[in-house]
Amino acid sequence: MRRGSNEIGGSCIELSYHGERILLDLGKPLDAEEADARMLPPTPGLQDETDSRLRAIVISHGHVDHWGLAPLAHTSIPLAMGAATRRILHAAAPFVPNPFTPVDTIDLADRKQITIGPFLITPYLVDHSAFDAYALLVEAGGRRLFYSGDIRAHGRKGSLFERLLRDPPKRVDAMLMEGSSLGRLDEHGDFPTEEAIEDLLVDRFKPEGFVAIMASAQNIDRVVSVYRACKRTGRTLLLDLYAMEILRATNNPNLPAPGWPNLAVYVPEYQRRQIAKSQRFDLLEPYRAARIYREHIAETGARAVMLFRPAMMRDIDEADLWSNARAIWSQWSGYLEHEAGARLKDDLATRNVELEYIHTSGHASIKDLKRLASALMPRSLVPIHTFQSDRFSELLCSVTRRNDGQWWKV
Ligand SMILES: [Zn+2]
Ligand SMILES: [Zn+2]
Repeated sequence: MRRGSNEIGGSCIELSYHGERILLDLGKPLDAEEADARMLPPTPGLQDETDSRLRAIVISHGHVDHWGLAPLAHTSIPLAMGAATRRILHAAAPFVPNPFTPVDTIDLADRKQITIGPFLITPYLVDHSAFDAYALLVEAGGRRLFYSGDIRAHGRKGSLFERLLRDPPKRVDAMLMEGSSLGRLDEHGDFPTEEAIEDLLVDRFKPEGFVAIMASAQNIDRVVSVYRACKRTGRTLLLDLYAMEILRATNNPNLPAPGWPNLAVYVPEYQRRQIAKSQRFDLLEPYRAARIYREHIAETGARAVMLFRPAMMRDIDEADLWSNARAIWSQWSGYLEHEAGARLKDDLATRNVELEYIHTSGHASIKDLKRLASALMPRSLVPIHTFQSDRFSELLCSVTRRNDGQWWKV
């Protein structure tokens, strides 16, 4: 294990068979501001072409704690990831500070086996707050390792978790299982389902008044919950260009798109400037008919819900929508403790807007982790992506803790 044995973020696992190697994930540590080459694991061939036996980097899903250091790897190393994950990275590029736009990646797809050197890899599409997330079964030399990636059972694709439990990979020698929830939820606790979040939102959308909701545009399950709650309450959801481009990149016809009812595209001032600067007027093209402008938001705002970011504060100031408005924080509460989060709280407070927290985790409860472990019955279970690896053995069987930098035989 290269990184992640006792932290959430920066996950990286190196697998080696007769000198041929692959990496599973190459994430940025969550406490690091910027990716830095000094954070890269000392894996031969990762930064130069001196060792071509590093065959590929396999990215489980599109969260930065799983791919954030990959842009620093040598460009000759093949990358494998879901096709939608790659498209979403490209779609996000015009809007994010450090875009990563890999090309010619090897596609991961649900239960479609691929071979990389001596490694046979079976991806399992899983339920997680990132779209197109996979757990990975890797076989080499008759040994089988299962890596959970980030996984949960209570999102909109919870059936994928149940299917994995019903039909798990057999004879797993080692399972690397995430444990984000240890320390965040008690042993018998449940996280609310995504449907329960939708119901709560319906309740909050019923009274009149503008609602600003702060959620990740890449948490597609949540965007769907917000949209469905808007439909159920006769509200209009205002999505910005970034959110629309992410939805489009999924290629999923069942997700909200221009022309759908209760949906309008609002391009905030900061994105208009971004587009003018980058001359990417083409980005506006697909949304021409679905757009709503500031004058209209001012008129209809009391029946609107906006997927909001702090950079949109001025837009709402100028549309004069803050009186009788509410704000909902619908992502990890930890972000609120950071500087930007604290500033947002202040900005809302000076406008007399209450901030309410409505969110569910992207990670499995301890109960669900136990179900996963007993379905797979690995010979050894290794904690990863957790701050409490020491508690794994209290809760689960066959636990073997491994440290960052430690090599072992599966
Ligand atoms: Zn994740
Ligand atoms: Zn993660």
